[in-house]
Amino acid sequence: MIRNPIPWPNGARCACAITFDVDADSLIHIARPKDSFDRLYPITMGRYGPTVGVPRILQTYRRLGLKQSFFMPAWTMQRYPDAVEAILGDGHEIGHHGYIHEDPTEISSAEQRVAFERALGVHVAMTGRKPRGYRAPVYNANQTTIDLLIEHGFVYDSSLMADDIPYLMRTARGSLYEMPPHWGSDDWPPFAHYAEIGYMMPVKAPSEGLAASFEEFEAAYEAGGFWMGIWHPFLTGRLARWRVVERWLERIVADDKVWFAPLEDIAAHIDGLVKAGTYQVRTETLPYFTQPVS
Ligand SMILES: [Zn+2]
Repeated sequence: MIRNPIPWPNGARCACAITFDVDADSLIHIARPKDSFDRLYPITMGRYGPTVGVPRILQTYRRLGLKQSFFMPAWTMQRYPDAVEAILGDGHEIGHHGYIHEDPTEISSAEQRVAFERALGVHVAMTGRKPRGYRAPVYNANQTTIDLLIEHGFVYDSSLMADDIPYLMRTARGSLYEMPPHWGSDDWPPFAHYAEIGYMMPVKAPSEGLAASFEEFEAAYEAGGFWMGIWHPFLTGRLARWRVVERWLERIVADDKVWFAPLEDIAAHIDGLVKAGTYQVRTETLPYFTQPVS
């Protein structure tokens, strides 16, 4: 049960977004800056994402007529301009995902601002506009992040987890929507096996690992909610896993009661309802705390 289900366009039961975080090898460079340049295994594991995974994913989206969202660290955009061009060329959205996947909670507010605005400049230069949306590396948004998003006119964040469906975050400085992710439909727990950055998950079989995301979808569909995959091209864009996703998508997209859209379109739809006074969005007031709790 969802207390305040959002009326979706054309009577759809569920709004759906596959979001791909195209981190590539930014992960190893931010984790091991001294010697990452000569660690060829994690570099290649990451490079697979924009060079092999993304073209495969885009081909499926073209075949099924889907427009979706990608989040990219700006460093990755600069390093892999062909991937950026291909994603934009097919009409998908690219959101802000830090400069080189720096964790906002591991750096000062001043450092966060520098990295955030540097990344913003890359987005404007390469995509021709400011991004509408943001996802914090490792979901680690803090209050400084939310303030920066509001200051720069972002429409939504997609890092925080206070509801099943999109909600509004309000601060003294303004507001923005939250398109909430959750680990339940994130491909990191079933598939990330990456000792160099501290993750050694027992790798699941493709169908078993993806089953978690698909069960999350079934519950969202039944409740008339919102489903979002938080996936990585170097994990779920691998051959066997994407084959499972493709079969699933073919079945789901044939059901006309799902609405697959980029997050910016879903946020814009909700904002339209709110502005028209036809939907009361749940609001979370931030900051939650302004000093240590104990
Ligand atoms: Zn990431």
